[in-house]
Amino acid sequence: MKNNTAIIRKSKLDAILRKHPWVFSGAIETDTKEFEDGSIIDLTTRNNQFLARGHFQPGSIAVRIISFEEQEKINQDFWNKKIKNAVDVRFTLGLLTKENQICRLVHGEGDNLPGLIIDYYAGVAVVQAHSTGMFLAENEISLALQNALGDNLIAVYSKSKETLPNRVDAENRYLYGNVVVPHIAKENGIPFSVNWVTGQKTGFFIDQRENRKRLAKYSKGKKVLNTFCYSGGFSMYALEAGAKEVHSLDSSEKAIELVEQNLALINTTKNHTSIKADAVKHMNDVETDYDVIILDPPAFAKHRDKRHKAIKAYTRLNANAIRQIKPGGIIFTFSCSQVVDKFLFNKAVIAAAIECKRNVRILEQLHQPADHPVNAFHPEGEYLKGLVIQID
Ligand code: SAH
Repeated sequence: MKNNTAIIRKSKLDAILRKHPWVFSGAIETDTKEFEDGSIIDLTTRNNQFLARGHFQPGSIAVRIISFEEQEKINQDFWNKKIKNAVDVRFTLGLLTKENQICRLVHGEGDNLPGLIIDYYAGVAVVQAHSTGMFLAENEISLALQNALGDNLIAVYSKSKETLPNRVDAENRYLYGNVVVPHIAKENGIPFSVNWVTGQKTGFFIDQRENRKRLAKYSKGKKVLNTFCYSGGFSMYALEAGAKEVHSLDSSEKAIELVEQNLALINTTKNHTSIKADAVKHMNDVETDYDVIILDPPAFAKHRDKRHKAIKAYTRLNANAIRQIKPGGIIFTFSCSQVVDKFLFNKAVIAAAIECKRNVRILEQLHQPADHPVNAFHPEGEYLKGLVIQID
């Protein structure tokens, strides 16, 4: 791969000097037509002063920065150092133990590796590249994982086909080892069946780990509705915490199958019901008496121009739950839309409360866990927000 250099416009230097990890195409003075997709390029001032080094990709985000150090070459040592640093943080956080075998090892910008996600399921690392540069480095990344995790690693699976639809060579495959799916991994002591080959994202929604633990505290003796449940993460915690009854609802048949697999692992089927339905329709049409409702929809807005519609959708969804929950009931409500920040989300929920004319207390403010860190220079990385509300 040839090394290229691109000059940053003088008027656009601020962001890069503040260590923001993205460079937009408009900030580059040099003609980038000749640059290869995924190649490593150096960014400099007009005076040839080094600024940063990153992965080039044609498009709005032209460069994702992986180093601000001129001396730091992008070779196997670089990947070893970066991946070890990220893995060490997870060990420090106590996330890689016998009782907790699921965590995110690398969270893109949050770990100074924009474009790279690595999730860990009891010995298996699932690598998902969101940029061509990261995809082209997957073999080095796999070696770096072996180096950082040692005996804690049995396989590395590359799952970048869905995230890089334009790369015909992005076949999902094992880069190291081979493991039969589904694979059992524990989260906070609760076993889950994870299938990264056929599942959504890398197979599991790791970012709700700490929030599921919070839910357990509210679930004993309660009737719980877990909407947008996917593989039933929240449901299993509620059942293990002694919920009277749990209903898990998802519109996807495949998700419901995963719920059933996970129920079998904790040997509980008697006080659980799976419902394949549309969440909004279910809460509108069915007369219910839930004590606790979880609302964890997929991102309603992926882009800024959809933000207004998304806020309306959050208000509608929350109003559906607030309207019908039992007096004293608890709602865990979330948004994972990056473009809807926590202030806007709170407003959407408050608007729902006003619409329903019920008193609502905000008991807790929730967010993404420490293995999904936010790069201080990339505040956009804060995407998951949630509220625990109580309705009089
Ligand atoms: N709470 C889950 C993750 C939710 S992901 C967990 O802890 O693992 C979002 C889920 O919402 C997906 O499984 C998707 O199938 C489901 N979904 C999307 N639209 C839906 C709708 N209108 N009604 C019900 N479920 C829906």
